[in-house]
Amino acid sequence: MSVPKVYFSDRKTSAHYNMLDKLEHVFQELGLSEHIQEGDKVMIKTHMGLYGNTNYIRPAYVRKLVELVKQAGGFPFVADTCSLGYGTSRPYGGRTTAQDYYTRAELNGFSQATVGAPIILADGYWGSDFLDVSISGDFITSVPVPSAVFDCDKVIILSHSKFHHIGIASALKNMGVGLVAKKGKTAVHSPNGLEIYPEKCLGSECSECLSVCPVRCITVANTVTIDIDRCIQCGHCSAICTSNVEAGALKVTWAGVNMAEKIVENTLGVMESIGRDRFYFINLAMDISDMCDCVCYAAPLLMHDLGIFGSRDPVAIDAATADAMKKAMPNKANPNSERIATLVDKSSVFFEHSEKIGLGSKKFDLVFLSRSE
Ligand code: SF4
Ligand code: SF4
Repeated sequence: MSVPKVYFSDRKTSAHYNMLDKLEHVFQELGLSEHIQEGDKVMIKTHMGLYGNTNYIRPAYVRKLVELVKQAGGFPFVADTCSLGYGTSRPYGGRTTAQDYYTRAELNGFSQATVGAPIILADGYWGSDFLDVSISGDFITSVPVPSAVFDCDKVIILSHSKFHHIGIASALKNMGVGLVAKKGKTAVHSPNGLEIYPEKCLGSECSECLSVCPVRCITVANTVTIDIDRCIQCGHCSAICTSNVEAGALKVTWAGVNMAEKIVENTLGVMESIGRDRFYFINLAMDISDMCDCVCYAAPLLMHDLGIFGSRDPVAIDAATADAMKKAMPNKANPNSERIATLVDKSSVFFEHSEKIGLGSKKFDLVFLSRSE
């Protein structure tokens, strides 16, 4: 089997070859101009950041991709999914429903007017609009793929490359957490899902959890009852019961176990849903922070910007990005070099498990892109 190519354009710019030109160069090398057919529906999946976080991808990159898709004849839309956590409280709130999401996205500079295409929450108003895709993972056997994915001819995964405590947070995380419905996000973050302690319920005098359940599977009389077969593991009720009411009758324990393995298994489900040949990956390795964009603060940056990566393989592109991050830190005097080396080493779990389940290749053929001025 041939080693997948990863195209790379570095951060050195000029008046005639700026970062948006470089993004276009990567787009061309990926073959998108030829592959997109007249009338193709093209999802640009990205993350628009939580309000208060200023490390997220700038809207100008998204707008450039939208324009390139249109030039190729496609109908682009910009997409993300609803997040976990209910309400707008810190540090993770604010993107729980489509309504919340659009409000926060606009504060961060993303709207149809700024990106030039509709912004669609791929899993609907409440993150409950999905179809299950079966896989044979070690940890996951059913992946809730957002319904909008199924209508796409092409999907461009535009990811901000940075870190998370489990390692690199880039294309694989943008898919395996960012492009699954809430049930899939809960599967990654919580080993048990929704836990029910009826003896702690305050009964119908409270009933606060009823109105936040997207599938209306909660009944409260003397105590709470959940129709667990209908529950989509969104965690809304537990957030209300635990944080607002402080009863603790409904609880989700956020203790990630085997998170990297579950993320790549979710990614496999998303790619299998419409076929791997429809996916393209672009990583922006800039504003490389010590935490994801799903928190309401901008975590410190660990290193200088690297540039733009592009590939057809979600594993190869993240492996190449992680490798470049490590190689860019030869200066041991830099206080962050040890932290970066640790996080890159942790990332190997993503790559090893991806290869094991046949998601992609941790080997890559790095192709440097340049243009004569
Ligand atoms: S929010 Fe909690 S305490 Fe209140 S009714 Fe629901 S389960 Fe019971
Ligand atoms: S019971 Fe709770 S976790 Fe299950 S769908 Fe309803 S709100 Fe979501």
